[in-house]
Amino acid sequence: DRRIYVIANWKMNKSLTETAEFFQEFKSSNDVSVVVCPPTQLLYPTQLFIKQSGKPVDLGGQNVHWADKGAYTGETSISMLKDVGCEYVIIGHSERRQYAHEDDVLVNKKVKQAIKAGLIPIICIGETLEEKNSMRTEQVLSTQLFGALKEIDSGDFIIAYEPVWAIGTGQSATADLAQQTHSYIRSVLKQIVGEKAENISILYGGSANESNAAEYSSMTDIDGVLVGGASLKAQSFDGIIKVF
Ligand code: 13P
Repeated sequence: DRRIYVIANWKMNKSLTETAEFFQEFKSSNDVSVVVCPPTQLLYPTQLFIKQSGKPVDLGGQNVHWADKGAYTGETSISMLKDVGCEYVIIGHSERRQYAHEDDVLVNKKVKQAIKAGLIPIICIGETLEEKNSMRTEQVLSTQLFGALKEIDSGDFIIAYEPVWAIGTGQSATADLAQQTHSYIRSVLKQIVGEKAENISILYGGSANESNAAEYSSMTDIDGVLVGGASLKAQSFDGIIKVF
């Protein structure tokens, strides 16, 4: 049985005060798995706010380093994420691939680090507009999947399909296109991890909001959403959760 997830990626947004306010308003739900991924310095207070609120919410990091510990100034290790209550970690977001030059080899190292520590990696893949227009979507996704999952036979991970052209643009993929792509992704996962692929949650991300969530939720291979902008306000994030 596949779990349904609604996950907030706050990216580089929110102050401590705004985070406290978010959890005063936020309702959440037991019907789906809800995960909030705040920026690193807000992880620990967020865990406290979640406990205080008594709401069913899990915590996730937005990135992790590939090494256990040591001389890596400015980085965060997987045990540090675990220490402050994270059960999930986003890996290979397109913004990190673009601005921090993360490639599939690095993504694979981070995924292994997460799985080894018992955290669930939320592995992000997706094609750019240029790749889409030149009909290379499937090739790009397959390369990213085989790269991220090299030497991994566990099925304990989440895939987030985030077409780069849909992120923060308001140009969300149609539910039909997302379903078609998710079905392709599942077929590639089958080649990599076999029958376990049936139980892997594949989330859609890219301008998901309260208005389009219902269409995604009705698709057989769309097992939730990874939400940026629309997750920053408790009310709109709750609105998306309600639909799933
Ligand atoms: P938006 O929902 O703001 O388009 O961001 C999507 C995303 O990148 C989530 O990781």
